Amino acid sequence: MPKSVLVINCGSSSIKFALLLEDQEFRIHGLAENLGTPEARIKGVTVGNEPVDIRIPNADHKQALEVGLERLANYKPDAIGHRIVHGGTLTKAELLTDDIIEKIRQATPLAPLHNPAHLVGIEATKRLFPDLPQVAVFDTAFHQTMPEHAFRYALPKFLYTEHNVRRYGFHGTSHAYVSERGSELAGSFKQGGWLTAHLGNGSSTCAIWNGQSVDTSMGLTPLEGVVMGTRSGDVDPSIHSFLASNLGWDIYKIDKMLNSQSGLLGLSNLSNDMRTLIEASEQGNEDASIAIEVFCYRLAKSLAALSCGLPRIDGLFFTGGIGENSAYIREKTLAYLPHFGFNLSKEQNDNLKRGTEGRIDAGKGPQIWVVPTDEEGRIAKETENVVNEVSQAAAKKFEADVAMA
Ligand code: AMP
Repeated sequence: MPKSVLVINCGSSSIKFALLLEDQEFRIHGLAENLGTPEARIKGVTVGNEPVDIRIPNADHKQALEVGLERLANYKPDAIGHRIVHGGTLTKAELLTDDIIEKIRQATPLAPLHNPAHLVGIEATKRLFPDLPQVAVFDTAFHQTMPEHAFRYALPKFLYTEHNVRRYGFHGTSHAYVSERGSELAGSFKQGGWLTAHLGNGSSTCAIWNGQSVDTSMGLTPLEGVVMGTRSGDVDPSIHSFLASNLGWDIYKIDKMLNSQSGLLGLSNLSNDMRTLIEASEQGNEDASIAIEVFCYRLAKSLAALSCGLPRIDGLFFTGGIGENSAYIREKTLAYLPHFGFNLSKEQNDNLKRGTEGRIDAGKGPQIWVVPTDEEGRIAKETENVVNEVSQAAAKKFEADVAMA
């Protein structure tokens, strides 16, 4: 049973890492950013909550991990859990074998920004810790329980059967953690129908029935769905031919615009950061106000649409930087859903302390909760589970082999 798990979230130019020690009671966090550039650095906190800020000019992923983990010399991990955005059709966390690494590589066309970066991280940790068990935890896995009518697009069948074009969904680690924790708080662990709204720089919604994802807002890629920091969410797909025919844009330019220049940033022409937009709106900035309104309206619309996947609605969980911290956005979103019977308590909503979990409805309707997400904790737990399963299976095989001998 691993006592400490190193959780790695490897992006193209950054690595978030966290070492979770002794049943997750202590955590050491780090962020290596601007990798491969002269500005590369590691920021974080140590066990004693001491801030760390180390410059590592031009360091690559492996060097950054080496420097970061050197600082943790007294806290060697027993296992490593990697957050992997796209696992294709893999349905659960898996021990990182050559076969699983190949499957992650095969899913690269579906997550061209994320999966290659994860593979770099895997390569680096395999070289640094050749003897440690390493586990891949997929953002897509939780949504593999979606029924076919929820995950198929209305496109020619061969695109699905021959090219895997279907809806996968993302943020699964967060939706899984929040719905489990939230239903536990509500006294009906993994029972009933719940909606989750993970609202951060990337945002998505999910419908969960008896602990299983039955639908979610993101699709083939993390671009589909609700309005995000810089991502458009749903648009008419004909936008591509419109922009190509009328503005002469190529597919790369359109893709970049939809992923990096749209969403809150595009609407407001100011910022992708919700705090900045709320402040600007309070000062009369009309673009910021419309960005917030579109965000809340489309979020409500997404929640209403996902409710079709549930036989009944027991409640709604808010999470993510915006969902956990902004009473204003929660209230505005729920104002678009009066016919669902949500009965928000303004007082409980406004007074909920940041970063804490709590119920914010006034009864007589579906429950409404704020549940801070814990993707790292969930990845560490899944890593532990996989490592334990594998060692139990190995012990059983050993016993059987001895009995046969
Ligand atoms: P995440 O990606 O989960 O870290 O969330 C980042 C988003 O949360 C950014 O848009 C932040 O502006 C937003 N956020 C954090 N705190 C607040 C707050 N107090 N009010 C509104 N938005 C917030």
